[in-house]
Amino acid sequence: MKIVVGHLFPDYLNIYADRGNIAVLARRAAWRGHELEVRALGAGSAGLPPGEHDLFYIGGGQDREQELIAPALAALGDGLRAGVEGGAALLGVCGGYQLLGRSYRDQSGDELPGVGLFPLRTVAGERRMIGDVLLECELEPGERRTLAGFENHAGRTHLDEGAEPLGRVLAGFGNDGESGFEGCRAGRAIGTYLHGPLLPRNPWLADWLLAQAIAHQTGEFVELEPLADDLEAEAHGVSAERARSRGGRY
Ligand code: GLN
Repeated sequence: MKIVVGHLFPDYLNIYADRGNIAVLARRAAWRGHELEVRALGAGSAGLPPGEHDLFYIGGGQDREQELIAPALAALGDGLRAGVEGGAALLGVCGGYQLLGRSYRDQSGDELPGVGLFPLRTVAGERRMIGDVLLECELEPGERRTLAGFENHAGRTHLDEGAEPLGRVLAGFGNDGESGFEGCRAGRAIGTYLHGPLLPRNPWLADWLLAQAIAHQTGEFVELEPLADDLEAEAHGVSAERARSRGGRY
């Protein structure tokens, strides 16, 4: 099967090699006999044809890059929200995650427009929140998994009442350093502050995203064939340990 990925603003939002997440998705799809077709989406993209993309991806960036692309990204908002409402999967990281909310007030006080896909708002604070993070997630009822990554953000993200976080912070800051929540989930869309890149050390999330993307295309949920993942488990372990030894929250 060919899984179509819309990679939003790849030239602007790729801090900490966030693009590596796409490489992981492509390899893990190929190992199961599927092809990933990655299409760059940017300022020149005239809308998003309904149903065309099975998965959207947007990486992180500094305030400067976010400022450059925010209006053009917000202009794609209708198509993005319709895509996710239609069952497409999405992964948004850090600066991209912030811009998928309603707005981001950056460190210079500028209010950047958001896509309005996630029910949240972000305001930059003085002190940056930097370091390894460990979360506990339950994307499927009864299936608890941990996510390990690295965060570096000045933005404090405030979820609306009733919004679903991606996970609970076991170690690190998370959305705002106070709530104990990290990231946001809306249907098949996931937003998170975790860089690293995220997917090489958390392959279960890569497979969850691929399964959602396949379900978007076929209407059926398929169990992906398990992979060995020894190196990935080791990478997860190292990262989780670093986060734990960093101590508790904020
Ligand atoms: N500029 C944003 C912040 O500092 C996002 C940074 C990032 O993507 N690492 O909050």
